[in-house]
Amino acid sequence: MPARQLNWTNILFIAAAHLAAVYAVVYMATVQFSWASVALGLFWLCASSVSITGGYHRLFSHPTYKAHWTLRLFYLLFGAAGIQNSALKWSIDHRIHHKDVDTDLDPYNIERGFWWAHILWIFHKDEKEPDMSLAKDLTADPLVMFQHRWYLPLAILFGAVLPFSLGLLWGDPWGALLIAGFLRLVLQWHATFSVNSFTHLVGSRPFCIDNSARDSFWCALITLGEGYHNFHHKFQIDYRNGIRWYHFDPTKWFVWTLSKVGITSDLKRTTRERIERAKQQVIERTRELRAQAGRPARQGS
Ligand SMILES: [Zn+2]
Ligand SMILES: [Zn+2]
Repeated sequence: MPARQLNWTNILFIAAAHLAAVYAVVYMATVQFSWASVALGLFWLCASSVSITGGYHRLFSHPTYKAHWTLRLFYLLFGAAGIQNSALKWSIDHRIHHKDVDTDLDPYNIERGFWWAHILWIFHKDEKEPDMSLAKDLTADPLVMFQHRWYLPLAILFGAVLPFSLGLLWGDPWGALLIAGFLRLVLQWHATFSVNSFTHLVGSRPFCIDNSARDSFWCALITLGEGYHNFHHKFQIDYRNGIRWYHFDPTKWFVWTLSKVGITSDLKRTTRERIERAKQQVIERTRELRAQAGRPARQGS
């Protein structure tokens, strides 16, 4: 694969955001500590994270359910605060990831190593224009296109200006900006990045073994449920990633709860038979591979 040019804008912004996140902790310990700013940071973390997992991922990239325009707008505004590109660009990258997983075409190809999949891919310029043919449904959505056009101002507004302005209400604007703006952003980034790195390296593969995606409870814990990534790669049109009721998947619970008040609808689920069939195929295929290698069978490892 030809070497890609470094994207200095991304490198410098990500480096500065990490420094600001560290300074947020120093600021709380030495300058001013405000519970209101911490609460704002937690709210921003939840709102912005679910906008990536429930919005960018499970609604826009994979239309696994339908959502009222108010929820779609919420996802697009707080998704912009996640500073991970517009929903349109994010979804195109993600659709390519599913289509060409573990190949050079996959933007965050795990075959290039943990750090490439985690963050280094963002440090490099993508020379190609986004393939709009992969997102005809999204380019036809006026709200998605509004966010795509105004992505940078919206990211600044929801990522920095609003937290700072709200902090003025309780006399801690810089603390609010540092905590809800930067500390929240860095935590959220590494949670999202972990889905591309950790869950393509560590965990079990009960549903398919023809790609690197794995199920990881630990990753689900920090990503609002996205860690059940082996199931997701096999059944990407399912609104759930953790299929058992006890699987830690707050994004699924959020979408399901909103369906009870009519804000979401048409939640897509894979039938139990298809899931059992996939698991059985993995057991049989693993047995074959183990037999060929002269080792005892063990499921999905
Ligand atoms: Zn996906
Ligand atoms: Zn993946």
